[in-house]
Amino acid sequence: MTQQQHNWAGNYAYSATRWHYPTTVEQLQELVSQGRKLRVLGSRHSFNDIADSPEDLISLEHFDHIEPVDPERRTVTIAGGVRYGQLCRQLHREGYALPNLASLPHISVAGACATATHGSGDRNGNLATIVREIELVTAMPSLYPKLPDFRHLLQTYDPQGKFRNAFLDTYIFGAP
Ligand SMILES: Cc1cc2nc3c(=O)[nH]c(=O)nc-3n(C[C@H](O)[C@H](O)[C@H](O)COP(=O)(O)OP(=O)(O)OC[C@H]3O[C@@H](n4cnc5c(N)ncnc54)[C@H](O)[C@@H]3O)c2cc1C
Repeated sequence: MTQQQHNWAGNYAYSATRWHYPTTVEQLQELVSQGRKLRVLGSRHSFNDIADSPEDLISLEHFDHIEPVDPERRTVTIAGGVRYGQLCRQLHREGYALPNLASLPHISVAGACATATHGSGDRNGNLATIVREIELVTAMPSLYPKLPDFRHLLQTYDPQGKFRNAFLDTYIFGAP
């Protein structure tokens, strides 16, 4: 019997019937192109069903790669499952920092940006506002190129479960 999966707080039980833990982009593309109703799971910190799906749920926990900082652009490129704690440790080693942070180190960057949560201060935007480019996996066979004008794609989570895009490999952040 499969054990019921819950969000981080334990107040919500996911209803998805199939769980996936891809390790390669090709596997992720296959899942996204085959799935009818699916969502990607971040660090499970949302208190409600926003990350749930009646059919397929995809965890990107194996997508945790962080590239070295690009010193020219002052940006860093990270995979879709990276969490703030991991990212900040690596940036710190390289002598950089993010201008604003999530309230907890184990929040996923993609999840916080997709929900437009976290970030504070009168002069700061939410955390999504420091993203420079994203790369998407969609139901189309090829990867979307890096999208500099992506902001319409953020915060497009759909209560009816119609949205099928998954942030993938390229979040590029300003690193002051
Ligand atoms: C103890 C606690 C403290 C919190 N504190 C704060 C706070 O201080 N400020 C605040 O604003 N919020 C706070 N929250 C709310 C919570 O942190 C946010 O909902 C959180 O940012 C969600 O991120 P997540 O990675 O857990 O994503 P999830 O909850 O797993 O998913 C959220 C959404 O993001 C989508 N998503 C995630 N990853 C991807 C991806 N790679 N590609 C496409 N879509 C993706 C999911 O499909 C879903 O729609 C808190 C929550 C908890 C439990």
